Amino acid sequence: MAKDGHKYIFVLGGVMSGVGKGVVTSSVGLLLQQKGYPVNLVKVDPYLNVDAGTMNPTEHGEVFVLRSGLETDQDMGNYERFLGRDLTNEDYMTSGMVYQSVIARERALEYGGKCVEAIPHVRDEILHRIESAAEYNGSRISVVEIGGTIGDFQNALFIEAARVLKMKHPDDVLFVMVSYLPTPGTLGEMKTKPTQMAVRDLNSYGVQPDFIIARSKEPVDQKRKEKLAIWCNVRKDRIISAPDISSIYEAPLNFEKDKLGDAMLNALHLPEKKRASLAAWKKFALATMNTKAPEVTIAIVGKYFDTGDFVLSDAYLSVIEAIKFSAAKLNHRAKITWVNSKELEKNPKKIAQVLGKYHGIIVPGGFGETGIEGKIKAIQFAREKKIPYFGLCYGMQLMVIEYARNVLGLKDAHTTEIKKNVTHPIVDVMLEQKKHLADNKYGGTMRLGVYPAYLKKGTLARAAYKKELVEERHRHRYEINSSYVKQLESAGLIFSGTSPDGVLMEIAELPRSVHPFMLGTQFHPELQARPLTPHPLFTEFLHSAISRKSKRKY
Ligand code: GLN
Repeated sequence: MAKDGHKYIFVLGGVMSGVGKGVVTSSVGLLLQQKGYPVNLVKVDPYLNVDAGTMNPTEHGEVFVLRSGLETDQDMGNYERFLGRDLTNEDYMTSGMVYQSVIARERALEYGGKCVEAIPHVRDEILHRIESAAEYNGSRISVVEIGGTIGDFQNALFIEAARVLKMKHPDDVLFVMVSYLPTPGTLGEMKTKPTQMAVRDLNSYGVQPDFIIARSKEPVDQKRKEKLAIWCNVRKDRIISAPDISSIYEAPLNFEKDKLGDAMLNALHLPEKKRASLAAWKKFALATMNTKAPEVTIAIVGKYFDTGDFVLSDAYLSVIEAIKFSAAKLNHRAKITWVNSKELEKNPKKIAQVLGKYHGIIVPGGFGETGIEGKIKAIQFAREKKIPYFGLCYGMQLMVIEYARNVLGLKDAHTTEIKKNVTHPIVDVMLEQKKHLADNKYGGTMRLGVYPAYLKKGTLARAAYKKELVEERHRHRYEINSSYVKQLESAGLIFSGTSPDGVLMEIAELPRSVHPFMLGTQFHPELQARPLTPHPLFTEFLHSAISRKSKRKY
């Protein structure tokens, strides 16, 4: 069972989803880490998908790829950004993963002829995974976020596993409930009842929360804290008010003001250690909230826009954050506008009117045909009008296709992802991917995770990174077709980053003499951008966008 004395904090959601369990988990992680305790953060996703790679970003948000290549939930991105370090496969689990292991064991007769059941076998697999994550990371405290809301069918087994852990190690396990206190417009008064009900619901699992993070529009007053304390059986000083904030990066600072970290250490019977300062974090958080900072305007041309109830920005979360970090570093505020590539496709004549006003243009990662010609038109416009352009994965592949079509004159250049028998397959499926596609093996089979790239001397990429060898995270099946590389290079395109054997093109760019910033990466640099260490390519891109701004007259 639990590593001796290892501490666990389970974060659960009450009342409704979308109130910021991920931000609470990340913030608690950061605070405890700053207090000198090694922390790992675990996300439990109750979906039956074996990983997040097969989920549509318009329904589930961005797929965040770990260094190892595991495709995970976007919360893992926030965890890495708050902790400032890489997380591992052990730190993420879905119901699908858990069941897959149990079923594989059953097929291998490892249960010795027993009936295999949710309790104890699935529950114990969950416990085993939570404990392995602690072990693997060498952490002292694990903060585990259980996805979904209390009362869901899907996450009940995970809550049950947490209950058992607490029962066995009463001094080492804490439960934190992130709840919501609504203020109905007609009443104008903040209500505690839904939170009371959520706690009762949680009690019916045999679990009592130790802390309540009370999310609400305005701060929760003393009177309501008293009411919650009495009705929910939680000490008043462990009911933490968490009103809406303008930047998620402010959350740990607010929690620190309320001494949440110390209260948790106290509840876990851990001594307070010499605390590291949050000064650098504070400086960064204030920069992201500085509404007086000059603005740099960025258009993101994408297709994930028909989203119904879904929050659009989630599909490109890491891209947005990466832009924010670099903008803050340059003492600017990025204003991001979403441009629907399908609209550009329908009205190509309007491109100048739609895109001409931005300081920079990004085409992010993507799949499939929808809106693709609109994206290519946007890239052509950025190239011809010398607007800083940054292409991420698909955005790089399309940048090379645009160059082949309009500069090399290969009019029907395309990617075989869209057009199987194209005359000029500038972007083609990677060799090892062909079999996966033929066998319909889509899950977890792309080129995933970290790969090294060498950067050519004298290029924009090399100047930005200031080093020769970089490691970046990937998620793609297609690549630049090496048989066109010479032709493209002789037409002026530079492949400034390649795999160490020189076979895979990792970065394409135009010389600075031709364009201020026209660069695309086959990898996803946004996945490694962190608040205190912004990504050099994003910073360089924004730097060019800011120079364009100062040159333009409005
Ligand atoms: N669809 C492209 C590929 O599979 C690009 C993927 C991406 O942008 N992540 O290669």
